[in-house]
Amino acid sequence: MTDLPLAGSRPAISEIDLPTLAAWLDARGEPAYRADQVVAGAHRPDVTAFADLTDLPAPLRTALAEAFRFSTIADSHVIRADGGQTAKAVHELHDGQRIESVLMRYATRGASAERTTICISSQAGCAVNCPFCATGQAGFERQLTPGEIVDQVLLWHRPPWQALGDAKAGHYNIVFMGMGEPLNNADRVFESVRLLNDPARLGIGARHITVSTSGVVPGIDRMVDELPQVNLAISLHAATDALRDELVPINRKWPIHEVIAAGRRFSGRTRRRVSLEYVMIDGLNDTDEQARGLVELARGWRTHVNLIPLNPTPGSRWSGTPAAGIALFVAILRAGGITVTVRDTRGREIEAACGQLHAQLSGRSLREARETRETRGAASVVPA
Ligand code: SF4
Repeated sequence: MTDLPLAGSRPAISEIDLPTLAAWLDARGEPAYRADQVVAGAHRPDVTAFADLTDLPAPLRTALAEAFRFSTIADSHVIRADGGQTAKAVHELHDGQRIESVLMRYATRGASAERTTICISSQAGCAVNCPFCATGQAGFERQLTPGEIVDQVLLWHRPPWQALGDAKAGHYNIVFMGMGEPLNNADRVFESVRLLNDPARLGIGARHITVSTSGVVPGIDRMVDELPQVNLAISLHAATDALRDELVPINRKWPIHEVIAAGRRFSGRTRRRVSLEYVMIDGLNDTDEQARGLVELARGWRTHVNLIPLNPTPGSRWSGTPAAGIALFVAILRAGGITVTVRDTRGREIEAACGQLHAQLSGRSLREARETRETRGAASVVPA
């Protein structure tokens, strides 16, 4: 699928499908193998521009640079936290829209390599309007193209950030948990998954890719047929419709029993475990009643509950559940036979919750933000 948002502008190489690129090369009299060569080269971790593709003739490199952008991302501002283990980028696209991605490094027990998790955005903004989320509060701007989704991963795959990841693409976990509701942009998100999965490109295994949804039931059902190897996470955040209507407003369209039924269909058909995400908000959804309700929803099928202490947005009326409250909630879930983990709170010092850094930089150019931070030792990159 070629899906170009900017009529008249040069498309990025990540947005061009192979037949289109092959036709362009053929029209220039290039041999048939060149399309594969260009695509493979553009995904190499040492390549940051067409000029780096030195196995191509120089005139072809020049022609590629004239016809295509190397990235859909015009500029990125990157800041680091957690002793360098977490980094967050605000990316500016060629039409000025801003999106976010986050890289987190984790030591993997018993494995020779560290795992690198990259959290990416699927939309500029989001229409779901969850009240605890900075992205939801800012509203929806537009869908991201497959190239704009893939280029977020490529930023972290290329210098200077490739060293931060310190892992081959095969060791990346990709999670669609950044800005946007992925299944409200399903066609383009599914295409981006295929591109990320393509062995001729990054070759990231489908089982290392997770699509997280607030509960778009038709999209979950499409995943069963179209992406059965990809992991599904459902952002539940409440165990009763009354509370979920408030916290995840899309619940008014697809209430909890429909979302859970879709999750069970996915799990039943794919034999995969579904992650139920649950942000912990002090005094609101962390009660014993909600915990017992969550046990009932998660019991009897392949699930895993992931508790996430709320990282409050500035001015939020809510705060995260304290550790003691989380421990009580976990105890009720475990007593009910539910597998549960508590996610660590990476990147609090860099506003790593969805949409927060973007909001913080609102009204400032990325260059301005970069210059301010550089005086404090942060780093940045302009990829294209
Ligand atoms: S939490 Fe996710 S689904 Fe809800 S508004 Fe934020 S980005 Fe959208």
